[in-house]
Amino acid sequence: LYWNFQQNFDMFEKFFEHIFQKPLTGYQRTWARRFLLSKSFTLVAPTGVGKTTFGLVASLFLALNGKKSALVFPTISLAQQSFERLEEFKAKLENANAVKILLFNSSMTKSRKEEFEKRFLSCDFDILIITTQFVSKRKDVLSKMFFDLVFVDDVDAILKSSKNIDTLLQMIGFSEDEIEKATERLRSKNKENGQDTVSNGSKNKGMLIVSSATAKPQGLKPLLFRELLGFEIGRFTFNIRNITNIRIKKKSKEKLLEIINILKDGILLFVNTEEEGKEIVKFLLENGIKIGATWNDFEKEFELFKEGKLNVICGVSSYYGKLIRGIDLPSRIKYCIFWETPCFKFLIDMDKAPRFVLERVFVEYLDNHPKLKGYFKSVDSLQTEKLRQLVSKYISKEDYSKIVNEIFSHLKLTDDGKLVIPDVPTYIQGSGRTSRMFGMRLTKGVSILFEEDDTIFESLKSRLMFLLDEEWVEENGVDFKNLMEEVEESRKIQNHDFYQNDT
Ligand code: ADP
Ligand code: MG
Repeated sequence: LYWNFQQNFDMFEKFFEHIFQKPLTGYQRTWARRFLLSKSFTLVAPTGVGKTTFGLVASLFLALNGKKSALVFPTISLAQQSFERLEEFKAKLENANAVKILLFNSSMTKSRKEEFEKRFLSCDFDILIITTQFVSKRKDVLSKMFFDLVFVDDVDAILKSSKNIDTLLQMIGFSEDEIEKATERLRSKNKENGQDTVSNGSKNKGMLIVSSATAKPQGLKPLLFRELLGFEIGRFTFNIRNITNIRIKKKSKEKLLEIINILKDGILLFVNTEEEGKEIVKFLLENGIKIGATWNDFEKEFELFKEGKLNVICGVSSYYGKLIRGIDLPSRIKYCIFWETPCFKFLIDMDKAPRFVLERVFVEYLDNHPKLKGYFKSVDSLQTEKLRQLVSKYISKEDYSKIVNEIFSHLKLTDDGKLVIPDVPTYIQGSGRTSRMFGMRLTKGVSILFEEDDTIFESLKSRLMFLLDEEWVEENGVDFKNLMEEVEESRKIQNHDFYQNDT
């Protein structure tokens, strides 16, 4: 996956430079990353940083790969202007004729209009350039079409009508039924119970990219974007976040206490086991910290935290943990602290190893034994126990551990024979509690990780960088005072509840 992605990224970068004659900016690199991972997302950035340009180039890139895009602009003149820029870009391509761009302009002559209509209805285009108004007027046709990418420039205009949102979602392949169900989920908003509202979302769906300089959409409907497009639900789909990650290398309780005393309030504390958590909570209580724990009475402790009677709440960091996914309290939750990296630990002994270890080892072995390889064409269809038998039949204990060591050398192997893998999605979900989208505004969050082991830390860091483009600071590079001010500031400007506007 990583290799393919890197290759795609390089290709896109070169493509951009070729047709625009300038390299991608930092912002555009981040967007390119998400775009190439086929994620729907919001481009929130001030005017002039290259949002529109990015959308144009992205649609051209897709067109060359046989994919359809719709570009939606707030006015005819912006649509016209973008059409002209896109034609210029197109002219730089060797196979320029391969890309068909169709522009709607309400002031076209009658015969032009007829031609437009014909091409529009027969989907005779790769890139369709339209206005917000056109989306409302022609929703019946548009909602039945499929686009791999819908790029909405200046989303504020289109969000004025909630019906438009449905149309946009239908254009990327959501059915009315799916939209209705998601709306219901938002209405009942039963997420507080830690219930998963995972929609099987993005399968065979197009991508929706919306750009905004100052987006502050109101009401329930805009939240559909994140509900349906998995901006925050589902594995490996991510919201845009604004989080500063801090690593603290020395894992000491005194240091933890010191940091909690600096941050004071609004803190989630994640531990890997309840046992360890109990010990830490006890220590913090003894030192005057107002802390609750999810393994006591979750509802009660959480209520106290919500009301501000507790400053810290401690829970186990598992992917489905109550604290990891079940809560959404942007005004209260500002900081999170991981008392070591969330990890999976697997025994790698032949008779206890999980399937993925056995599979990797066996495939590796077969690659070096071509004769045997012919017998086992599809390792992945073998039952786990059968696979285990085969591994122990063909591979000696010694070879087995050699292969394991080679394959997983980038991961940590403990002395007691366990393979340790940072649970990156859990780290992302957990830290994500501190930086939430409110409509399209973001609260600033801080995530502090105690981790002594460099291998585990580097592995987490590099995957986080790859997935989210997020950076880390070391403890001595942190200005807590500034950071805390930023955290508070981002919560001041959004003290109204968007949920109430639409119900
Ligand atoms: P936005 O939509 O965010 O307001 P535009 O895409 O209209 O931004 O770009 C603003 C200006 O910056 C335009 O003149 C555009 O040509 C220029 N621009 C866009 N991307 C780049 C880039 N990667 N390098 C240099 N200039 C760029
Ligand atoms: Mg623009």
